[in-house]
Amino acid sequence: MTTSSTTHVPAEIDLPDIQKLVMRQRNFFASNTTLDVYFRKEQLRLLLDAIKKHEQELFDAMYTDFHKPAMEAYATEVGFVEIELKHTIKKLTRWAKRKQVKESFLNFPAQSHIYYEPYGLALIIGPWNYPFQLLINPLIGAIAAGNCAIIKPSELTPSTSAVIAKMIRETFHEEYIAVVEGGIKPTQLLLQQSFDYIFFTGSTRVGKVVLQAAAEHLTPVTLELGGKSPAIVADDADLELTARRIVWGKFLNAGQTCVAPDYVLVQEQVKEELIHLIIQCITEFYGENPAQSQDYARIVNDQHFNRLSKLLKNGIVRAGGQKDSISRYIAPTLLDQVSWQDPIMQEEIFGPLLPIISVKCMKEAIGIVNKHPKPLALYFFSSNAAKQKEVLQHARFGGGCINDTISHLINPNLPFGGVGNSGMGSYHGKSSFLLFSHQKSVLQRGTWIDLPLRYPPYKNRLPMLRKLFNWL
Ligand code: NAD
Repeated sequence: MTTSSTTHVPAEIDLPDIQKLVMRQRNFFASNTTLDVYFRKEQLRLLLDAIKKHEQELFDAMYTDFHKPAMEAYATEVGFVEIELKHTIKKLTRWAKRKQVKESFLNFPAQSHIYYEPYGLALIIGPWNYPFQLLINPLIGAIAAGNCAIIKPSELTPSTSAVIAKMIRETFHEEYIAVVEGGIKPTQLLLQQSFDYIFFTGSTRVGKVVLQAAAEHLTPVTLELGGKSPAIVADDADLELTARRIVWGKFLNAGQTCVAPDYVLVQEQVKEELIHLIIQCITEFYGENPAQSQDYARIVNDQHFNRLSKLLKNGIVRAGGQKDSISRYIAPTLLDQVSWQDPIMQEEIFGPLLPIISVKCMKEAIGIVNKHPKPLALYFFSSNAAKQKEVLQHARFGGGCINDTISHLINPNLPFGGVGNSGMGSYHGKSSFLLFSHQKSVLQRGTWIDLPLRYPPYKNRLPMLRKLFNWL
């Protein structure tokens, strides 16, 4: 396994090169090559082969970047993307067919269809926490819908960025699918160009920058952002199972997961028992000293390590709390007695610190959730169907699980995305295809009859029209 700390620095791309690249992609798109569904499926198969070929390199790169365990790199990145690719290849012919819809009587005689048309050029900007999956999964949707694309990996995971760039350049011509590596500057240059779709995954702060840039060209945008996703635990939940599923979802990728439970709201009578079970579970998963565990990732860079170290000062540490700046290790940590005024409750934690807060009842928990910006995910643990219904009906959030964490992402039939501050638009499976497609609505009118009712002079036809509308 490569653990070299040599940082890959990509060659800086300048404005004329980016303009040339965009122009070449425009010309290629105009050739109509990507309109052919067989072409798209072939490209998806090529992508699948390339991923399989580079699998070990990807694992090594993600380990180099922040010690992502190979099991997690497979389950949540490479294997995850492979499932999405296979699902899309299998279903694409059906998805891409024009769809006939019911006709309005007013248009008689006619037929109406929806045609799925690629937007054209897509720009896909990825974050560092799932540096492969969150860049390639949207790319699958862009290819499936027949777009050209430029993808921009995060500069904070340089080794993974380098492998992605190599893999994409070996597999596709640049005028079809291209990679631009680097940080803020190349992203800003890209955002100055006119794209037909922008798909951004990252922070709410940068999401606003992207949305502003897109407005300049009236480019449609999907924003996959973050936020504080709660796990709510009712007193009738299976607490052992709840502890296991919360610990798994929280400390996977060392808490650097957009849909990780950010904090726990637990009914006060079971709080101590849940804390006890969570602590037990952390030891079961990562051993007495998680620093020695092969299954526990590191914090991505010094800036995030320092930010999280400051947050560690909030509340009372009930488990964990240890850290090491050299290896950027922060132990899985459980925090009690935090207040809503503490910095840890004011920002997305995005690390292995789990505050636990007691509530009296579900109504109070729902009130807390709805008082804050709408989270990307919400997890509710309870064995009571009425309570489950209450939370689902009244709490506002992007998506989530009952009695689990994170697993809603695995089902390609569930659109994944945020709402409000946690994002706009959703993808995965068919939703990705639809997201990157313009739905062109076309009415084909019969010519053998042409009723005169709609044409001027209208004379006294209004009552007749009103009758007709009332009858419909
Ligand atoms: P980020 O917003 O800092 O960076 C994302 C991308 O934007 C990177 O490619 C980066 O190079 C680029 N970028 C950064 N600053 C920029 C600027 N000023 N102008 C233009 N481009 C800029 O996010 P991150 O730190 O990479 O990722 C963490 C955030 O992403 C968290 O908030 C997390 O919740 C969110 N996230 C959301 C999802 C989701 O699916 N909703 C998934 C993963 C992460």
